[in-house]
Amino acid sequence: MKDDTRSRALQVLQSVFGYPVFRGEQAEIIDLIAQGGDALVLMPTGGGKSLCYQIPSLIRDGCGVVISPLIALMQDQVDALAELGVRAAFLNSTQSFDESMRTERALRMGELDLLYVAPERLLTPRCLELLEASNIALFAIDEAHCVAQWGHDFRPEYIRLSVLHERFPGVPRIALTATADFQTRAEIAERLQLGNARQFVSSFDRPNIRYQIVEKENVRRQLLDFIQSEHAGDAGIVYCLSRKKVEETAEFLNESGVPALPYHAGMEHAVRSRHQSRFLREDGIVMVATIAFGMGIDKPDVRFVAHLDLPKSLEGYYQETGRAGRDGTAANAWMAYGLQDVVQQRRMIDESDADDNFKRVQSAKLDAMLGLCETLTCRRVRLLDYFGQQSAPCGNCDTCMSPPSAFDATEAVQKLLSTIYRVGQRFGAGHVLDVLRGSDSEKIRQWRHQDLSTFGIGSDKAEAEWRAILRQVIAFGLVDIDHENYGALKLSAQARAVLKGEQQIMLRRYLKPVKSKRTSVKPKGFTETDLSTEQQSIFERLRWWRVETARTHNVPAYVIFHDASLREIAKAMPVSLDALRQVSGVGEKKLESYGEQIIALVNDVSAAA
Ligand code: ADP
Ligand code: ZN
Repeated sequence: MKDDTRSRALQVLQSVFGYPVFRGEQAEIIDLIAQGGDALVLMPTGGGKSLCYQIPSLIRDGCGVVISPLIALMQDQVDALAELGVRAAFLNSTQSFDESMRTERALRMGELDLLYVAPERLLTPRCLELLEASNIALFAIDEAHCVAQWGHDFRPEYIRLSVLHERFPGVPRIALTATADFQTRAEIAERLQLGNARQFVSSFDRPNIRYQIVEKENVRRQLLDFIQSEHAGDAGIVYCLSRKKVEETAEFLNESGVPALPYHAGMEHAVRSRHQSRFLREDGIVMVATIAFGMGIDKPDVRFVAHLDLPKSLEGYYQETGRAGRDGTAANAWMAYGLQDVVQQRRMIDESDADDNFKRVQSAKLDAMLGLCETLTCRRVRLLDYFGQQSAPCGNCDTCMSPPSAFDATEAVQKLLSTIYRVGQRFGAGHVLDVLRGSDSEKIRQWRHQDLSTFGIGSDKAEAEWRAILRQVIAFGLVDIDHENYGALKLSAQARAVLKGEQQIMLRRYLKPVKSKRTSVKPKGFTETDLSTEQQSIFERLRWWRVETARTHNVPAYVIFHDASLREIAKAMPVSLDALRQVSGVGEKKLESYGEQIIALVNDVSAAA
């Protein structure tokens, strides 16, 4: 029996999905669910979670029910499955009464392999009765971290999903998420009553993503420079904190010749979904968005994710950057970070109405995020360590590739701290730095601060250098910001030891940002198949063919074939269906739908060459 499900699963993988082998723990997970067990699966974005419930749904009797909050993506998911010859449908509030009636009937008649349902829909008495009257193969709870109350994706309906266990005790359940932290994992297991489920925790490393954090100066220029030099023509996501900044940045990129679209929760729903759909369907669009954008976006060829503002936590940073490079080929996670980010994030925590306990948690999360920004060692090691995973320096992040230099900043920090103290801990960064550097300003004259003993003792350093020092000192908690008092800088309890000379302070040396050179984003260990001129022209033709085909079928291009499959076809130059079948990503249904066309196209180009 056991070997039977195993070989059946492999056969489905090959014939339906066209992939030769399972990845990571997919085989074990599928085996467990196919045999009726429960599982909690933590796998990074792009790890291949969908197959973990799609294949058991195809093997088991009945229909697999997938619960997902991502209504806007269901149509694409169902279309993608249809391309593979899988009978899939969805139930959510976007469809007409007739459509949902048709889907309900198909489910009852046993004509569906997979059904996607929004959680609020699932919980209606009508839907639960429908499920009871139908043959259900399994329940897959996607984006399971939505059950976590402190996460930013919390959905109250998710808590009520424990009803599945009570009403369908015999149906296996699989909960899946790309969120890695222990607390969320425990919360999922508890709230969904998955205490007895087997947990599968994959490595959270995304080796194809290159992490870079640069010092913020003129952030728009820096962004444009980064896109033009490293990502001309690529699809990417740019995250900003505010809606206003989203709109301004999108406009700026467009004016500079980079096709960009804004996306935030304040936009009209129809416009927002049009932008999302263009991003998914067209090549080379840059989405400028707040964090409202991105959950569940499974566009495989997003080549970069840029942050113009500091995320609140490493969980957020990891999740957002993880949307780059799902197809496993080289991608960039780029962030610009500066003093203002630290000040702003600290203020947001201080000024929120949350209780003290919540604020403490947020503050600890921010500290971990700041630790990543200020680290003198490998970013990836830091990031994975936060998720409880040990690793060695990666060679594919900015600190590995050009190690920052540290310097003994004890004296400089003492100067800064005493200046803060001398001005009575009542002034913000701008004024403190003016006093320190001995500048002339009206405010200085007004308060007679030119008479202070610390006036001008920091004139040896440029303002940008001082800002970098102040940023780090705030990040490390030596200086607090009094938000109730117009952002006045105050010494923390820890500052005393430094002022008394009892503690040495090493800081990251300020480096003037340089214009980025066109560097290859190809990380070590990744080989992009090199194509001959003839193969290259086949590849180009295939891409055109894909655009046309995707348009006729009204699906995103990657639903037809991924770039990687097209490249492989171009390289193999198949002359028969059997040869084409060997290409990863070419299953039986696609072979039947497109095989002849592709072989004719390959022949055409070869004949012309
Ligand atoms: P996740 O939901 O974990 O982010 P997906 O399920 O969307 O990831 O899978 C990411 C990509 O990897 C998809 O394009 C999928 O088709 C591909 N994939 C998944 N499993 C395999 C496999 N065993 N072999 C080849 N490609 C795979
Ligand atoms: Zn590294």
